[in-house]
Formats: sequence, structure tokens, C-alpha cells
Amino acid sequence: MLNSPATILTPPATPNLTDYEVFSQSFNWLNEQKFLNGLPEKKGLNIAFESIERHAAGKLKDCIALRWIQKDRSTKDFTYYDLHKLSSRFANVLTTLGIKKGERVFTLAGRIPELYIAALGTLKTTAVFCPLFSVFGPEPVFQRLSRGDAKVLVTTKALFEKKVTQLLDRLPLLQFILLIDEELHVTDKVLSLPRLMEEAYDEFFIPPTNPEDPALLHFTSGTTGMPKGALHVHGAVLMHYITGKYVLDFHEEDIFWCTADPGWVTGTSYGIIAPLVNGVTNIVDEEEFDAERWYSILEEQKVNVWYTAPTAIRRLMRIDIQPKEKYNLEHLRLICSVGEPLHAEAVLWGEKAFGMPVLDNWWQTETGGIMIANYLAMKVKPGSMGKPLPGVEAAIAEITETEIKIITEPNKQGHLVLKKGWPSMFRAYLHDEERYKKCFRGDWYLTGDLAKKDQDGYYWFVGRADDIIKTSGHMVGPFEVESVLMEHVAVAEAAVIGKPEPIIGELVKAFIVLKTGFTPNEKTELDIIGYARKKLGPAGAPKEIAFVNELPKTKSGKILRRLLKARELGLPEGDVSTLEQS
Ligand code: AMP
Repeated sequence: MLNSPATILTPPATPNLTDYEVFSQSFNWLNEQKFLNGLPEKKGLNIAFESIERHAAGKLKDCIALRWIQKDRSTKDFTYYDLHKLSSRFANVLTTLGIKKGERVFTLAGRIPELYIAALGTLKTTAVFCPLFSVFGPEPVFQRLSRGDAKVLVTTKALFEKKVTQLLDRLPLLQFILLIDEELHVTDKVLSLPRLMEEAYDEFFIPPTNPEDPALLHFTSGTTGMPKGALHVHGAVLMHYITGKYVLDFHEEDIFWCTADPGWVTGTSYGIIAPLVNGVTNIVDEEEFDAERWYSILEEQKVNVWYTAPTAIRRLMRIDIQPKEKYNLEHLRLICSVGEPLHAEAVLWGEKAFGMPVLDNWWQTETGGIMIANYLAMKVKPGSMGKPLPGVEAAIAEITETEIKIITEPNKQGHLVLKKGWPSMFRAYLHDEERYKKCFRGDWYLTGDLAKKDQDGYYWFVGRADDIIKTSGHMVGPFEVESVLMEHVAVAEAAVIGKPEPIIGELVKAFIVLKTGFTPNEKTELDIIGYARKKLGPAGAPKEIAFVNELPKTKSGKILRRLLKARELGLPEGDVSTLEQS
């Protein structure tokens, strides 16, 4: 039987995308749309139908859709048919509670099956699903529930008591709290989910769904400013399907593991939807990062495709384990990374550690799906994000308040922009039309990132537009400096900011976490600065170094340079709701 992790698989001989250039030229969205079913009787396009229903009624019915690994390492499997039944029950629960199209259903939970069932069930009803990180403190939870006009919150007893009870007075729109691990209803408002599920019918008729109907709400990780709620539509499922097929190279028998939490867009687009739409087995690990655990999951579950993030890769690089030697990873054929720059060092480490480069790809909450990527069938240039997904038009541009000019000259730094119109483009920042409008100039969406495109069409990340350092008249991208610092034998992690300096404008300051075995002293500092000067020249090399035990990061693993800078300058820290340790 397909999709059983016990089956020994022969890796697919050819990737789905065999020739990037040829395929890009002939690419047509409508051709790909044909691989989706659409709702019966042409009643539209619904993410949950494409992810679950069509498989539950077909040959994948009894295949494992989701394998849940609990903290104690025991596993629980859900077939496509199981998820069909369970999500239908949840959809009926919402309908019975009177939840209507477009209303927001939130989850605040760890990576447990109920979260996935709630996501799919909510999408079936055409209400909007919004997952929150379970590690958020009460204030970030409040910010998001209130900005998102939450009607329903699905959570656990412990999280409810610790983070939500004190907020209820301030959340007048929140009608129901459904407790995952409570057997009896507590009040008219605080209800037992198991009981509601038991009483609900396990068949649900998905109402007509327009591809433009809102489906998902994702608050961005707040690397800049206050969190914004990016709204995505059901039509985004085409993008989930395509990127799963051509970037993650899903084949039906695959076992796939995305390490991201659904509280971050990657954990929803690629931790729930893309693998299911493509009919593969999706591994979900309840536990947080642990190198030995992760390597043994790759081995035991015979993972074929693994999607993770630079922050995890850097942590693995710091530990002295050679996975290829210690574990049997013969099933693994593709490793992808997203979320932050993947330094050339990390790409090459993949070769050494796993026998394959780590393939970087780029996208963001607003784009809803992968936009720029390295593909199995394309030469990898370590340190580059790769090339735009077929069907997606990217460019480097100069922008002003009102205008945009596309730069055609190669290797020139500018703003990374995307031509409007790909299916998973966000359709609004909830309640903030002004901010949404500001993201566009004519036909182009402004990503807020700076990048370069080389003569071969590869894109290279430079930095967030607001992280760029101006020193002695030069523009210095923190990523470039960090990449060089990371090559130094003593450096485990690095983050670079511009520190105001009266003569040169800003000086380059680096915050460095050393690898175990190295001492933070003047000799190490001079050695690192010397190395950076040799590689970058005096303009780009850091003039100051601070050794730190860890770098402030968002819960999705992004280094918060903005926060390092605010701390350095004694300025207010701004929105720190997504800070890892908050
Ligand atoms: P978020 O919306 O929280 O997922 O953050 C999106 C931002 O993360 C992008 O705008 C980039 O600044 C950064 N990012 C994501 N992927 C990459 C990548 N592969 N290389 C460099 N930066 C990335």
C-alpha cells in the first residue's frame, strides 16, 4: 500500500521538473489547474476538498495522510479517509454553533491532530482559519484574536487557563472556546470539543466556494512593525499544489516532513495543505528541535523530502554529528530550507552531512507560497535563493514613493518585486487597506526585501530593505557580511547591524555566537575582524564585535536585527510578540 512508512521505497527516477528553462517558457496556470478537481458540479474551489475529500474518495483513501509523532515518540496515523470524517465532524460543530462564511476560527495549540482537523474542518465550512503559535504569551494572543475578530478559539485547558481567561473581558466578539482536552462543557461559551465532535455527524456538504473566498489569515512574524493579518483565499491551493509538485518534488508515495509550526505560514501552506493536496504522507512532530531526535525521525520514518529552516540547519551544523554515517538516511532525496538567508556554508554542509545540497527557497507570509527556489534539476549556486517559480514573474527594481523602475542590468542591488496575479497572493491586510495599498506600485508587489539578480537569472538575497547599513557612503547588506563571518571557523551564528557613527554614518557591528570550544576574547575578535576585512574589504567588515550566547529570534527562527539595533541604541523594542523566548 502506498504511503505506509513501513514500505521500502525506490526513489522516483526523475524529478517532476526536469528542465527549468523549458518548463518556465511553456508554463500555463490553466494547465496546472486541471490537476485539481474543483468542487463537484462546478461549485468552485475549496482547499479542504482538494486536500482531503478528493483523495478520501479515491485510491488514496486508506493511505496515511498524517502521521503524528508524540513527544514520547509513539505515533498515531490518520488516513485520508480518517481526516475526511474528522474534519467533517468539526465542520458540523462549527455550523451547529452558527459560524458563518468568512468568520474567523483560531487555534492556539501545539502540533497536535486537533489543530489539523480544525484547519481542514474550518476550510470546509468557508470560515477563515487562523493558527497561533502555542508559545505566544497572553498579549500577542490578545493582539491577534482582537485584530482578527476571532469568533471561535480552539485550544487546550492549560493554554486557555494560562493565556486566555484573563483576556475574555477584552474580547467581546469571541463567542466560543472549544477545549480539546475537556470532556464536559464548562459554560455556554467554554465547550468540550470531544463532546461536540462525538455529537456531530461525520459527513459534511462543502458549500459552493469561490476561489476568491477568504480561507486563511496569517499574522506576519513582525520582523518589522506591529503584526499584520495577511488574508489568503481558497484559490491559493493551486499554488500549494504546484510548489509541492515542482519545488518539493512530491510524488504520491512520498513521506514528507515540514518542521515548521502552523503558527507560521510555512507550517500551514507546507505543513498541512501542500502535502495533502499532493497526496503524500505528512509527518508531524509534536516536539521541539532536538538534533538526535530529528535525525532519528528522518531515519525511522524514512523521510524522502524534508523542509526545514536555516536556524535549525545552523544548530545542526554546530553539533558534531555526521548524520550520514550515524543514521540510515537512504530514503532522503531532497532537503529544502526557507525563512532566512541560507548561507553558502549551510548549502555545502548539506553535501557533507547528507550527500546533497540544502536547496534554499524564498517566500513570505504575503506571497502564500514559494516564489523563488532552487530545483532538483537546476544547478545550485550556493548562497543564491534560486530562480522564480514557473508562472511567477520576479524583478529587481528601483522604487520611489510613487514610481517603480525595473533594473535590467545584472548584479545590481534593488528591491525585490513580484508581478501581481499569482494565485496565493494575499488579498488584504485585515482592517488595514492603506498598508495593503502601500505594498504595490502599479502591477508590482513590493516585497520589502533587497536582492540582486545575476547574469544567469539567479536571485541573491541582500537584506530586508530596512536592515540595510549605510557606512562611509556604501550600502552594506547584513546578509553578505554575516555569510562571510559564518565561514570563520569559530563562528556559529552572526547578526550584523548598522550602529550610528558621526563620521561614517553607520559602522558595521556584528553580534556573534561562538562555536563550542572557542573563547570570546580579544584575540578571537581580532581574528574574526581580520578575516572579514580580508574577505570583504574595510568598508563591509565589522568594526565592532559583541560576543553573545544567543541571538534574538522570532518564533519562526528569524534573527531580529531590528531588536539588536534597538537594544544597542537604547530605543524602545517595539513589537516583540514574536520573540522566541517571550
Ligand atoms: P515571513 O513572512 O515571516 O515568512 O518572513 C518573510 C521574510 O523572511 C522575507 O521577506 C525575507 O526577508 C525572509 N526570508 C524568507 N525566506 C528567505 C530566504 N530563502 N532567504 C532570505 N530571506 C528569506
